[in-house]
Amino acid sequence: MRIKKMDHIAIAVKDLQGSIARWVKALGMVAGEVEDLPERGVRLCKIKAPGSPALELISPLGEDSTVARFLSDHGEGIHHFCFEVQDIEKSLEQMKRGGVPLIHERPVSGAGGSRIAFIHPRSFNGVLIELVEKK
Ligand code: ZN
Repeated sequence: MRIKKMDHIAIAVKDLQGSIARWVKALGMVAGEVEDLPERGVRLCKIKAPGSPALELISPLGEDSTVARFLSDHGEGIHHFCFEVQDIEKSLEQMKRGGVPLIHERPVSGAGGSRIAFIHPRSFNGVLIELVEKK
């Protein structure tokens, strides 16, 4: 399996609008559109900085969201790293064959019409990893 690049680092936040304003104002970064992903239970906004992976600010859409659980267990902070791959199905297949515990064995819908899958944090030193195949 081959990674194209690191796509983004996601940060779980309680107050999305307030957080966007701070990142943009303090660091001069550029905020993208706010997007709701009801199937994932998240509202998110990509914050872009030249030449580096985006930051993805994520907040829960409801109490049963995994991000709501993350916030109550850990508080705000780094939630996952995301790597872009060419062929997500093939990547998942290879990881599965290699005995890597996956959260999603098949891709699910992600931001901006992408297809994504999460890999269990116990596979990578306690860090939740997302793979994305862009549209
Ligand atoms: Zn992500």
